Amino acid sequence: MSQLNFINNQWVASTSGLTIEVIDPATAEVYDSLQRSHTADVDAAVQSAQNSFAQGWGALSAQARSRLLMKLSQAIDQHQVELAAIEQRDCGKPSKQATADALALVRYFEFYAGCCDKLHGDTLPYLPGYSAFTWREPHGVTGHIIPWNYPLQIFGRSVAASLAAGNTCVIKPSEDACLSILRVAQLSVEVGFPAGTLNIITGYGHEVGSALAQHPGIDHLSFTGSPRVGTLIQQLAAERHCPVTLELGGKSPQIVFADADQEAAVPFIINAIVQNAGQTCSAGSRLLVEKSIYPEFLAKLAAVFSQLQAGPPNLDLALGPLIRASQITRVQQFMDEARHLPIVAQGSIHPKADARGFYQAPILYGDVPVNHRLAQEEVFGPILSAMPFESEEHAIQLANSTHFGLVAGIWTENGARQWRVAKKMRCGQVFINNYGAGGGIELPFGGVKSSGYGREKGFEALLGFTTLKTVAVKHN
Ligand code: NAD
Repeated sequence: MSQLNFINNQWVASTSGLTIEVIDPATAEVYDSLQRSHTADVDAAVQSAQNSFAQGWGALSAQARSRLLMKLSQAIDQHQVELAAIEQRDCGKPSKQATADALALVRYFEFYAGCCDKLHGDTLPYLPGYSAFTWREPHGVTGHIIPWNYPLQIFGRSVAASLAAGNTCVIKPSEDACLSILRVAQLSVEVGFPAGTLNIITGYGHEVGSALAQHPGIDHLSFTGSPRVGTLIQQLAAERHCPVTLELGGKSPQIVFADADQEAAVPFIINAIVQNAGQTCSAGSRLLVEKSIYPEFLAKLAAVFSQLQAGPPNLDLALGPLIRASQITRVQQFMDEARHLPIVAQGSIHPKADARGFYQAPILYGDVPVNHRLAQEEVFGPILSAMPFESEEHAIQLANSTHFGLVAGIWTENGARQWRVAKKMRCGQVFINNYGAGGGIELPFGGVKSSGYGREKGFEALLGFTTLKTVAVKHN
């Protein structure tokens, strides 16, 4: 039995009659299938969301929305073990990562449940005899196109915020990972969401994703994925002036100054590149180290890095498999181009890993030239590129030298330098003496330059899911 689309609180097959295989990344085995939806399914999902916006979710008070979102958060909490297990098999995540993702989903719905009745406008100084104020209103029906690397988390951060603001949603998860999101849809029925509030249609990006991005009934689009597809989405949305939030990739630097607490930095720097096998948009994939400590710090890092293992998700090692065979090919192309670069350390693949699985051992390259592809482009795999810097100015210049700008990590005990360097970073988030790849429900997250625009997470995301109406009243 194939997984079905979720439209108007009903499970329905695509009218295309076609399905897509679901593959276990740890074994390459096919174990389920999804609907390969097409335009007619998008039409039905959008119509259903429009109906709920008019008469269902859209007619609820902020307090009622808050209570339903909190109930969903509690239901997710009660099913977190099941959801983590689904995510683990679908994405190949080690147990602790799958569990963290399920818990983050609980928090997203909890956080935004608490925001519904705290969204308000302002009163504005205007002319004598007038009163002026603003209303924060939902866009209407929001479209959400979600990638495969953190399905539960990325679904949670955009859908919970959108619902809290009063919108209804049509969601297109990735064809490579959507089972956990479909399970959450069922929970939304059980806690009493009005029909049509959440609608989920599965399928390929160029078919159903593209149809969603072009649909005239979509009032706001939220896209997380590659810069290439982000450009296509913007072009499609521009045709009808639909607002878009884009969360694209990153090539985030970790800057280690000579006075850094090296012992504290090492585990963060390692986690920031091996978390989710490097398939994290905010992965700390570039390591910039002050020249005077470069050999010493790399040796410390190498000692731990060389112990890292990729292996079956249930062994809960540092890394699981990559999502699909083509992702292995992508990483290996980068490695081919880096043949001449020194490998400072390399992890291994656990002997119990299935030979058919999509495993990639982590690698730390040293002396990566600033213009090398490995220092400029997102690998989306467990590859860390290190390079030395001469001075604070040089570190800032290297950190800002890519066309991305998502996150930066700064490691120094010098307080003035912490602030100075943070100010100079061209990115959306800076971590000082810590690094939160993907973490922090409360912290606005998003990029500059080719990393995208708009903000997810925190209260800021909620504002992005609203539009502002200004009202001026003449009373004498
Ligand atoms: P992708 O861009 O190929 O796919 C993302 C989503 O877009 C999927 O649901 C896909 O089906 C859909 N899609 C693909 N082609 C489409 C089209 N023509 N029209 C409409 N939708 C389309 O990316 P991916 O392979 O799923 O994920 C990897 C990339 O995403 C990496 O570059 C990574 O940096 C980025 N990413 C960024 C973030 C972030 O928060 N900034 C998070 C996760 C992934």
